Amino acid sequence: MRDLLGVNQLLLAVLIFVPFERLFAARPQKIFRRGLLTDMAFLFINGWLVLVGVIAITTVAILVKQSVLPAAVTQPIGNLPYLVQVPIVILIADLGIYWTHRILHIVPAMWQIHSVHHAVEELDWLAAIHQHPLDVIFMKAGALFPLYALGFSTEAIATYLLVYFWQTWLVHATCA
Ligand SMILES: [Zn+2]
Repeated sequence: MRDLLGVNQLLLAVLIFVPFERLFAARPQKIFRRGLLTDMAFLFINGWLVLVGVIAITTVAILVKQSVLPAAVTQPIGNLPYLVQVPIVILIADLGIYWTHRILHIVPAMWQIHSVHHAVEELDWLAAIHQHPLDVIFMKAGALFPLYALGFSTEAIATYLLVYFWQTWLVHATCA
């Protein structure tokens, strides 16, 4: 069965980041820190909800690509070499994440959702998943919608997702 929720990748992240944070800790912290069980609950519950959200986002984006945007735009994008697509995909997705993140901070109703993520009291790599599901889905929409609508290749988008997965853990890790 395919690892739809990224459980195998998560287990690999545990094997990497738990010792990584012990070796290069900016401040000493327990592995079984306060809020760990809550974050595990977020991981379990968000996994399925976010998967449903991502399927909805990509479905609408592909419909937009097929019926709204002209093939004269999307086909040349999809035909770009993989090594050209990847940096463009990372740039577009990063801008999407940046702007959705800003909106989550600026718009009061959105902050209600996003403040969950900033409520973490003991930060470590796993705190990256301490998010309201709508927060995750909104940010993923900012990144993935333009990529699928513009017609970038599945391989280039998958490469971005792999980079994003590891970068997310790294930026939340407490390392000196
Ligand atoms: Zn934030």
